[in-house]
Amino acid sequence: MPIKVENLVHIYMKDTVFQHIALDNVSFTIEDGDFIGLIGHTGSGKSTLIQHLNGLLKPTSGKIYIDDIDINSKETSLKVIRQKVGLVFQYPEHQLFEETVYKDVAFGPINLKLSEDEVLERVKASLGLVGLKYDEVKDKSPFDLSGGQKRRVAIAGVLAMKPKVLILDEPTAGLDPRGRDEILNQIKLLHKKEKITIILVSHSMEDIAKLVDKILVMNKGKIQFLDTPRKVFKEAETLERIGLGVPQVSNLIRELRKKGFPIEDCISVEEAKTAIINVIRGKKDA
Ligand code: ADP
Ligand code: MG
Repeated sequence: MPIKVENLVHIYMKDTVFQHIALDNVSFTIEDGDFIGLIGHTGSGKSTLIQHLNGLLKPTSGKIYIDDIDINSKETSLKVIRQKVGLVFQYPEHQLFEETVYKDVAFGPINLKLSEDEVLERVKASLGLVGLKYDEVKDKSPFDLSGGQKRRVAIAGVLAMKPKVLILDEPTAGLDPRGRDEILNQIKLLHKKEKITIILVSHSMEDIAKLVDKILVMNKGKIQFLDTPRKVFKEAETLERIGLGVPQVSNLIRELRKKGFPIEDCISVEEAKTAIINVIRGKKDA
């Protein structure tokens, strides 16, 4: 069981007039290999939560276990935890700094004091995992790449550490629709190929609905839901109340049902297409 969070509380600027409870008694478990979408309105505590999962922030109270290891116990090496849990920050391309793509992606593995061959292997493999061709990009300056490509290089740098858990904080922020779809498809492929646990932070239901196994919904520092997209989208009213929509296609299906069409909930356009065609056919046959 890779991630277990127990009664996690995080208070920024505790005991000052600016005190703010960003995480309010959060508990949940994420199973090995799960693909989780972490969603919530701006300020709901998403970034605060994920920075606890690799020890970057310390809990005000509560515990975090990765592979049954209490990551904040004195005996735990945070270096080991950070190798297991790779965190891609928002706008990760701002952290690219080497002259070449190769050097940037190799930075982490070199720090691990791996052999030159192993570093090379890892750089090649992780660029491949984000859909970039090693020979084409290795000698380029990261700054000469497109926005989407820069971001992929930054993600490759984290993958080169071979994490068991990959956390991405709003990886589509600021990208155009094409860049956004590319990144999301790469992440989906990555989950399929590598079977690692992925936590994808987003404020867009549309983005994550079709991708993830489970959605973790945060609201004002608390967990509102942790369930499959299908079950979470049944709570459309609550989601709207906390500033999150459901995907447009779920709304459409609900409207059709209100009008008397016998149609089940759908979470993707493809699914809805089939369901609507079936209903129309069924009506004609009747
Ligand atoms: P999200 O990622 O969901 O937008 P955050 O975790 O960034 O939310 O923020 C949760 C709350 O904590 C917000 O109200 C935010 O203003 C506050 N907050 C975040 N970082 C800090 C900080 N370093 N100091 C004080 N307050 C913070
Ligand atoms: Mg955030």
